Amino acid sequence: MEILLNYDEIKDRIERAKEKAGRKADEILLVGVSKTQPPEKLKEAFNCGINVFGENKVQELVEKYPLIDGAKWHFIGHLQKNKVKYIIDKVELIHSLDSNELAEEINKRAGKINRIMPVLIQVNIGREDTKSGVLEEEVLEFSKLLSKYPNILVSGIMAIPPVNKNDEVTRTYFKKVYNIYNEIKTYKYDNFEIKYLSMGMTGDFEIAIEQGANILRVGTGIFGKRNYNRGE
Ligand SMILES: *Cc1c(COP(=O)(O)O)cnc(C)c1O
Repeated sequence: MEILLNYDEIKDRIERAKEKAGRKADEILLVGVSKTQPPEKLKEAFNCGINVFGENKVQELVEKYPLIDGAKWHFIGHLQKNKVKYIIDKVELIHSLDSNELAEEINKRAGKINRIMPVLIQVNIGREDTKSGVLEEEVLEFSKLLSKYPNILVSGIMAIPPVNKNDEVTRTYFKKVYNIYNEIKTYKYDNFEIKYLSMGMTGDFEIAIEQGANILRVGTGIFGKRNYNRGE
């Protein structure tokens, strides 16, 4: 019941933000960030119409994956090279590509199962030590490296701005990310098909919509507080 009400409210907020931004006709994908949430809650969310879940831990994703029949999964957290093999056949999109070594491994594992894996380049837009991602000035060179991996489809950009309470500051970060997204659209590599801009979470997705996001990653706004006593 809680999830249904939350989800309705989030959908309302998304619609209002789209209208305000003059983006009524645009498709915006809502990813339900289900990390730390128990499977019952994911089932409830799935029954409400949320069919894409975002997880940031490999083990947790692998555990939940068989439990929700028909759901789609996105990987949104820092991904260790040695764990790619566990999720390569399970996820629709990896939001967090942040190194050449990881790209090489994803390419290799995707090739083994004859798959072309869609990925987003994570950009560390706030240049924070605590966050993964490439720096904005590295995106061009990183893209060049990625162009040699035929089993990866580079599909866009993901970013998480630094935590802050000032909408104007958040807006400035999202604007920067949007500019990178537009720039990367002009790159003519065979394995680039740029169409996703993943930014915006519970506290800032209206601003993200205003600044051009088309994938939102919303956790607490849908599921309520996170459940950190899973030992993670
Ligand atoms: C946890 C998480 C979210 C969701 O955050 P909320 O504030 O709960 O909406 C979004 N993106 C990433 C990468 C996350 O790790």
